[in-house]
Amino acid sequence: MNKDAKIFVTGHRGMVGSALVRRLQAGGYTNILTRTRSELDLLNQAAVQQFLQEEKPDYIFIAAAKVGGINANNTYRADFIYQNLMIEANLIHGAHLAGVQRLMFLGSSCIYPRDCPQPIKEEYLLTGSLECTNEPYAVAKIAGIKLCEAYNTQYGRQYVSVMPTNLYGPNDNYDLETSHVLPALLRKAHEAKLRGDKELVVWGTGTPRREFLYVDDLADACVFLMEKGYAGSLLNVGTGQDVTIRELAETIMDVVGFEGRLVFDASKPDGTMRKVLDVSLLKQCGWCYNTSLVIGIKLTARDFLKQTT
Ligand code: GDP
Repeated sequence: MNKDAKIFVTGHRGMVGSALVRRLQAGGYTNILTRTRSELDLLNQAAVQQFLQEEKPDYIFIAAAKVGGINANNTYRADFIYQNLMIEANLIHGAHLAGVQRLMFLGSSCIYPRDCPQPIKEEYLLTGSLECTNEPYAVAKIAGIKLCEAYNTQYGRQYVSVMPTNLYGPNDNYDLETSHVLPALLRKAHEAKLRGDKELVVWGTGTPRREFLYVDDLADACVFLMEKGYAGSLLNVGTGQDVTIRELAETIMDVVGFEGRLVFDASKPDGTMRKVLDVSLLKQCGWCYNTSLVIGIKLTARDFLKQTT
């Protein structure tokens, strides 16, 4: 990528998009294109096509998506499938019409079958049934991967899909109803400490295992792959290491300094029991994560305090 290439980052106000902009700026890229939702509605096909025809970016990162934790995915099932399908179809087809050759589509590890072997290899895609709580989101993201693949095979485009594991970091969503587990527990621990509570409520049984990647590491991987000209169609991005939700909660309590005890609310769903990515392909490309879970949680806690005080 030339340093003055025109790079369109969609979703730049979100956790992933903002990390991509930070990483691109730090890498000396000077021509980064962004649009807020009020400036460009990605659900509007005509508006997206017109914008891409006018701007003709050299590269596009699709970090815009309707996202949320287990509860949001399960509750707003129609919004998750519809909005994600529209965003990716408008952007990917619009990019092709505008002659954009290089594009990166960001998905999620929940695209893989619920009961597939662990760690999860890219080749397990579409080999089994999906986890019910986030099936609409996953189906939309799988459609995005297939869109990219189809434009590559039919038209010779280089549209790459990367599947990050559970992400966390600055600009995360801390709303307890719709957030993912890490920001939710960070907030709960912080508030429990301030109130002097004796307990911290964790959803589910605490036994599911999840892998967590600091979002700046994801952004680094994405830019690394674009710079390298990676042309495969689907690539996992993660650490390859997982922890139980209980271990995660304990680490967060340590970082925050909350000394009460954990209580598990089994009326809330556990979701998939284990989700950890096989990152062999990514390692072969020459990339490895940098931020440990404890350091990442410390950095995120700092961002959370900044947002709330
Ligand atoms: P998932 O990875 O798609 O299942 O999404 P989440 O990050 O929302 O949830 C991961 C796991 O953490 C699930 O087993 C949840 O039940 C569990 N969990 C524990 N406490 C919380 C919480 O306060 N919020 C959320 N979102 N999940 C929690």
